[in-house]
Amino acid sequence: GSNRLDKDKEVNVQVLVRCRPLNDDEQRVNVPKAITCNESKREISIVQNVANKQVDKVFTFDKVFGPKAQQRSIYDQAISPIVKEVLDGFNCTVFAYGQTGTGKTYTMEGGMRNKAGELPAEAGIIPRAVRQIFDTLEAQHADYSMKVTFWELYNEEIIDLLASEEPSKFSEERQRKPISLMEDGKGLVVVRGLEEEAVYSANDIYNLLERGAARRRTADTLLNKRSSRSHSVFSITIHVKEMTVGDEELIKCGKLNLVDLAGSENISRSGAREGRAREAGEINKSLLTLGRVITALVEHSIHVPYRDSKLTRLLRDSLGGKTKTCIIATISLSAHCLEETLSTLDYAHRAK
Ligand code: ADP
Ligand code: MG
Repeated sequence: GSNRLDKDKEVNVQVLVRCRPLNDDEQRVNVPKAITCNESKREISIVQNVANKQVDKVFTFDKVFGPKAQQRSIYDQAISPIVKEVLDGFNCTVFAYGQTGTGKTYTMEGGMRNKAGELPAEAGIIPRAVRQIFDTLEAQHADYSMKVTFWELYNEEIIDLLASEEPSKFSEERQRKPISLMEDGKGLVVVRGLEEEAVYSANDIYNLLERGAARRRTADTLLNKRSSRSHSVFSITIHVKEMTVGDEELIKCGKLNLVDLAGSENISRSGAREGRAREAGEINKSLLTLGRVITALVEHSIHVPYRDSKLTRLLRDSLGGKTKTCIIATISLSAHCLEETLSTLDYAHRAK
């Protein structure tokens, strides 16, 4: 389009904060609140005594969603424009970042579909994006193809959530297909051995998602809350045929990554517990590097430290340049979480 040049100069990183409501237990015991959200001023304020010290801070973000914000309004206001970009042939990434229990997975996945196959009110970003993509392509009568991948990065290892073999407890090593990282000439990382499923309908994707999400939950219970220490990445790649000129087909290709990051508490308590030092160190490295990469992009630094962690190496083709990035920082209202909330807000604010 005519504004392509301006677009190149823009920094396409958007940072939003979502505050989850108090749950039933928290309400029952009347948990003190430490946060107020002002959606119209896009501010999060903290007024609280911490260890007899009055903390009084205000943070401003690109958007703020308070505890009453519905899944749909977050999607319509913040994500739908990003999905439009993907359909126009750009690579885009949405991250959920925050302390475990603050709503990262709820924001990303939520309820996938109800019995009638419709989107429920609690459907999160992934099912809504899938719906928008198919609805748009079908309305355009587009000639398209689509592939999805869904994987987890746990302890610097990639685990394919769509792998067809159900890994058993005893033969997991033998059955698991080797997944390797290859680097192409341009420094881009290609993952080899990942299941890439071609999908033809929103229902195809919902079936895959349910399979992958169930696998995450199983691993969670077996491995002591693994999901709080792993990053999960759901990606949709879309090829749309634009026109045929002679023998040549012009194809537009866009990719959307939806990333549910490891719990941010891993950053501040790194290595605190024995035996978890390595794991926490690796999670730290990915989360800290991601923060640095985004800061470098926002500040137009010449050096962007993509190579410093596996997560940023893997997402490199979708971070920076003409891509759009959105970080949703999730926080709790509760005063008991204030320390983590402050560290989440600091992290998110540095990305602005
Ligand atoms: P995380 O993935 O960050 O660890 P979850 O998404 O699992 O957190 O959320 C923790 C709990 O809080 C879940 O039971 C989830 O359904 C609930 N929850 C999170 N955010 C909201 C919200 N905005 N509205 C209602 N319930 C929420
Ligand atoms: Mg989660």
